[in-house]
Amino acid sequence: ASGLYIVATPIGNLGDMTVRGRDILAEADLIACEDTRVTGKLLSAFGLKRPLLAYNDHNADKVRPKLLEMLRARRIVALVSDAGTPLISDPGYKLVRDCVAEGLPVTAAPGASALLAALTLAGLPTDRFLFAGFLPPKSAARRGALGELAAVPATLVFYETGPRLAGSLADMAAVLGAREGAVARELTKLFEEVRRGPLAELAAHYAEMGGPKGEIVVIVGPPPAGETAAEDLDAALRRALSGNSTRDA
Ligand code: SAM
Repeated sequence: ASGLYIVATPIGNLGDMTVRGRDILAEADLIACEDTRVTGKLLSAFGLKRPLLAYNDHNADKVRPKLLEMLRARRIVALVSDAGTPLISDPGYKLVRDCVAEGLPVTAAPGASALLAALTLAGLPTDRFLFAGFLPPKSAARRGALGELAAVPATLVFYETGPRLAGSLADMAAVLGAREGAVARELTKLFEEVRRGPLAELAAHYAEMGGPKGEIVVIVGPPPAGETAAEDLDAALRRALSGNSTRDA
């Protein structure tokens, strides 16, 4: 059927392409992708050849009207990213938003995502988690962003790059305190590795060995039970004792 299909692709191991995702790509009138070379390789690995159009942060505002035009003409448009699930730290949100606004059909063909693969391997609570994407590259902004997350009673998930990993872990240890963490690297690939431990130990390890190669997800366990409640109580008491009740109004 016509419409926009959000198709997940593998994050390393080609075997993770779903049968349904592959079938949708085979049927698509057009595949919108971040990089036509990357998606071209994926298609040829599956013996497919379909028209590709780059849709990325640089040209999205110009290309989106063309995609919407095709969808209004009842064509099949598939959206993929270089790897994993589109829209997750990848382009696509505004396209889906516009389809929804116009009543054009949108369907998901779910599959691999580094976010969920890493979360399931971390050995940390999974009942509540917050995906925070990429942190800012500079330490001051990064500490600010981490400060906003410090009181969230949930496991935190970040995407990270090798060169920034040690600095990020050091900032996490400083701002989030003594928590367990995990660094998941090269998931589903030949050199897949998950290192688990207290944030400070992970920070020391990667400061010593330097930025590792490959793609990385950092997972941070929730604050120790009771800590946020105690801190909240502490802050509330201090506010109450200072007699300043309007500050948080
Ligand atoms: N949309 C993708 C997804 O669903 O996983 C994520 C796209 S984001 C631009 C790329 C980041 O995802 C990388 O910098 C890394 O943090 C993470 N990533 C992607 N593939 C990975 C892998 N095989 N192992 C670990 N992390 C990965």
